[in-house]
Amino acid sequence: MNSFDRSAAGIAQVFRGTFVHSTQQTALEILEDALLGVDTEGKIAFIGKGEELDKLLKSTNFNPSEVIQLSQHEFFMPGMVDTHIHASQYSYAGTALDMPLLQWLNTYTFPVESQFKDLDFANRVYSKVVKRTLRNGTTTACYFATIHTDASLLLGKIANDFGQRALVGKVCMDRNNFVKHYKETMQESQDETCRFIAELLKKKYPLVKPVVTPRFAPSCTGALLGQLGAIAKNNNLHIQSHVSENTEEVKLVKELFPDSESYTDVYYKHNLLTDKTVMAHGCHLSDEELALFRETGASLSHCPNSNISLCSGVLNVRNVLKQKVKLGLGTDVAGGYSASMLDAVRKALDSSKILTIQDPEHDTLTFEEAFMLATLGGSQALSLDDQIGNFEVGKDFDALRVNVAAPGGPIDLIQSEGPKILLEKFLNLGDDRNIMEVFVAGRKVIPFTEPTA
Ligand SMILES: [Zn+2]
Repeated sequence: MNSFDRSAAGIAQVFRGTFVHSTQQTALEILEDALLGVDTEGKIAFIGKGEELDKLLKSTNFNPSEVIQLSQHEFFMPGMVDTHIHASQYSYAGTALDMPLLQWLNTYTFPVESQFKDLDFANRVYSKVVKRTLRNGTTTACYFATIHTDASLLLGKIANDFGQRALVGKVCMDRNNFVKHYKETMQESQDETCRFIAELLKKKYPLVKPVVTPRFAPSCTGALLGQLGAIAKNNNLHIQSHVSENTEEVKLVKELFPDSESYTDVYYKHNLLTDKTVMAHGCHLSDEELALFRETGASLSHCPNSNISLCSGVLNVRNVLKQKVKLGLGTDVAGGYSASMLDAVRKALDSSKILTIQDPEHDTLTFEEAFMLATLGGSQALSLDDQIGNFEVGKDFDALRVNVAAPGGPIDLIQSEGPKILLEKFLNLGDDRNIMEVFVAGRKVIPFTEPTA
C-alpha cells in the first residue's frame, strides 16, 4: 500500500474501508481498513491505512468527521470498462439471437440501425443504454453508434450529461447490399467522420472522445479503410472495429481482400492497428495474427456472451494472455444480450470452462483474472490505463461502492465472510441492487441526481 499526498488541489472526499483492485503485479489486491482521498479534480489524492488518518489529513483542510466509513459488507472496486458495446442495438437486446453473424446483421441489425436518422428514436435508445450501463457499474464504455453523424453526436452528449466516460464511434460502411440506404459512399463516410470528430471535440466534453469506427472489413472498401487509418493517425485518435468473429466472416474477408495475408493483415495494411486500437472478438485468430496485435500494441475485446449467443466461437483467453496481447471484456450488445459487465465476467469464466471441458490441460481463468479483465484489463485495452483501471494515486476515481448484503438484493450471506469471498459472490451473484454508488472522475453519478423518467 503506498501512501502519497497530492493534495495541492484540495481534498473533496475521503473513504475508509475495504478496497479491491488489480495491479500490474497481481489480479487481485485487497486493501482492508484503507483510506482513500479524492481531490477536487476527481483524482485519487492518497491511499493509506486507516490508522494513518490523522497523519494523512494533517496537511489538508479536510475534517476527519466527514470521512465516509464503509460498512462490514461493503467494498470499493474500480469502475468496469465495457470495451465493446453497440449503443444503437440496445433497443433489441435480449432478442434476435437465432442466427449466425452475417445473416443476423442483415436480418436484424441493419434495419434497426437505419432508424437512427430519427433523432427522437436515437435519444430514447441512447438515454436508456447510458443509464442502464452506468447503473450496472460501467463507468467507461466504448460505443458503436450508427452511420448517422448527428445521432452519434447525441450519444456523446447523453454520455456527458449522465457523467459516463465514453469513446463514441460514428460507424463507417460503404459496402452493404442488403438494407437499402444503410450505407455511405466512400466520400460521405470520410467527410462525415471528419465532421463527427471535429464537432465532438469542439464540445470539450471532459470524459467523452471520438473513436474512428470502420464497422468491419466486409462493410468497408479498402479505399475507405485507408482513409480512416489516415484520419485516426492525423488526429491521434482511438480506433475500433471487429476481427475474426466467425468462420464464415473470415472466409468472406479472404474473398474480398485477396491480397491480404490474413484478416488482421487487412487492418494492418490500412494503418488501423495501433496502440489505440481495440478489435472485438478475435475468436479465430492465428498466433501470427496475435503477434501482429502484440507488435502494434492493438488490443482485443473479448465478448463471450455474443460469441456464444451467435454461435461464433470461443476465444482462448489464456492463449491471448500468453501471447501478451492487451485484452478487455465487452458486452457487445445486442449480439450479447446483457448490457451488464457482470454478465461479461461470468460468461468469460463459463467460456474458459468450456475450453477446459474440451481439453482438461487447458488452464482455466480464475475469477480474479476475470475481475482484472473487466477493470484494469479494459483500461489497458483502451489505452486509458494512465487515467483509470485501478486505485492508484493520480488516477481518476472511477469506482463502484458495492454492498454485498444490500437489503432486497440477490445475495444471502449466511455467515460473516472475508472480502475475497464477498467479491467472488458479487461477481457471480450480484447485480445493480448491490451497486450502491457509482463514481466517475470523483463525481457521484449513481444514484441519479437528475429526474430519470
Ligand atoms: Zn460488435
